[in-house]
Amino acid sequence: MPKLLRRQKQKNKREWKMDILYRSTRGDKKGYTASEAIIKGLCDDGGLFVPDSFPVFDFDLNELPSLDYKKTAFMVMKEFLTDYTDEELLNCINRAYDEKFDDKEIAPLVKKGDQYFLELFHGKTIAFKDMALSILPHLLTTAMKKNNDNREVVILTATSGDTGKAALAGFADVPGTRIIVFYPKGGVSRIQELQMVTEKGKNTKVIGVWGNFDDCQSGVKAIFNDAALKEELAGKGFEFSSANSINIGRLIPQVAYYVFAYGRMVKNGEIKAGDKLNFVVPTGNFGNILAAYYAKRAGLPIGKLICASNENKVLFDFFKSGVYDKNREFILTSSPSMDILISSNLERLIYFTCGCDAKKNAELMNSLATTGKYELKDDMKEELKDFYGEYANEDEVFATIKAVYEDTGYVIDTHTAVAATVEKKYRAAVKDDNKCVIISTASPYKFTRNVLKAIGREDGEPDDFKLVDRLCELSGVRVPNAVEEIRNAKILHDTVCKVNEMKETVRSSL
Ligand SMILES: *Cc1c(COP(=O)(O)O)cnc(C)c1O
Repeated sequence: MPKLLRRQKQKNKREWKMDILYRSTRGDKKGYTASEAIIKGLCDDGGLFVPDSFPVFDFDLNELPSLDYKKTAFMVMKEFLTDYTDEELLNCINRAYDEKFDDKEIAPLVKKGDQYFLELFHGKTIAFKDMALSILPHLLTTAMKKNNDNREVVILTATSGDTGKAALAGFADVPGTRIIVFYPKGGVSRIQELQMVTEKGKNTKVIGVWGNFDDCQSGVKAIFNDAALKEELAGKGFEFSSANSINIGRLIPQVAYYVFAYGRMVKNGEIKAGDKLNFVVPTGNFGNILAAYYAKRAGLPIGKLICASNENKVLFDFFKSGVYDKNREFILTSSPSMDILISSNLERLIYFTCGCDAKKNAELMNSLATTGKYELKDDMKEELKDFYGEYANEDEVFATIKAVYEDTGYVIDTHTAVAATVEKKYRAAVKDDNKCVIISTASPYKFTRNVLKAIGREDGEPDDFKLVDRLCELSGVRVPNAVEEIRNAKILHDTVCKVNEMKETVRSSL
């Protein structure tokens, strides 16, 4: 029996409640507490932190329907982030999931026609990344305090559009932190750029780079790896960190909404406590769906984890064949946040399919880095049986948005539409009585033009805000603050630099 299961069994017997430590997927044996792992972000050997055992949720499923989002988040997160005190966690949760969210439910579950949607877009930037990025800054600053680290954290982030604003919104005016975001000048949508350059937080800096996203990303990596700069800034009391999705401080908070959704399905009489529930997740970097897998491993009755891809269907091919192969054309789709050929968080699942053999995993990841591909052995494929991969092409995505709107009046965004399409395909292909919840990752207001195109109401109007008003009339859904805010906001960040000036820009701004 793998070590992992043995420990889980011990916990079942409640012999003791042990601290969960986080270790590398690639071989470094050292265990880190949750707070240390959150500060470090990435392991020194390039691997990702994984829990050395899974907790077993010990709450009663019948109790879930009576819990609000914060209480649910607390019950889930305390099982994984075991070195945080209850008080510390509650503090982080209360500061994250407050009136920044424009719906009291935080993550409302809605039923439209015969489909269920878990709306994760009610935060500040109207995409699901707010669910984790509104709490990460608090987990991180708490971690610094716990570990007697008095330095000021400087978050460096390269963004292709969405992550940048969500990180800015999360870290804005959080004491003890600063955040610098680099984005490709001319490489993001006008709305995305406006969202960033109008950011008011006093500890924020947004910098356009004359280059593409890869240039920004490489530039940030080079700054992270610059030992001399690191030392110079350490002398001034600064420490670099990153807010990207491989940090367990982003992953663990995401486990909570799966448990919450389950509770709401019971509360609404759609399932009985104990019934299995499937989740359909629009997937890019594999962080969101991995959180669902963690929920399942910890005991939430989940049936299938249905991984929905757009035309960049590396993951669909992987679940079908056991071969991960990124050597293919990169396709720009209407769901840009899922246009990804290397899903970083998949490594955490691969590690488990290897029976937690870090050496085996490291070999596969090395193969990915050198040849762009790797293949799982048959016994490893067996471990993937919790997952089902499917994808939607562009025509299907647009047709789904139209059909859902015409049938129910509900408007979904392009990413959610990938999942909604896949949910229909799954139900047609597989005989399965379990209900499916579709994870809704963005507000349609974030992708207004394509959404209106899908329902036949885009006529070439150049002004994005006019389209916003049109969508409001059609859907009857109030224009979110995130959009209203940037309509007339002042531009506060106008720095643009060359790729080779990024480091100097960071130095001079600290
Ligand atoms: C980031 C993102 C995704 C993909 O989530 P992963 O955790 O990277 O798989 C899907 N939809 C939207 C709107 C996103 O912003």
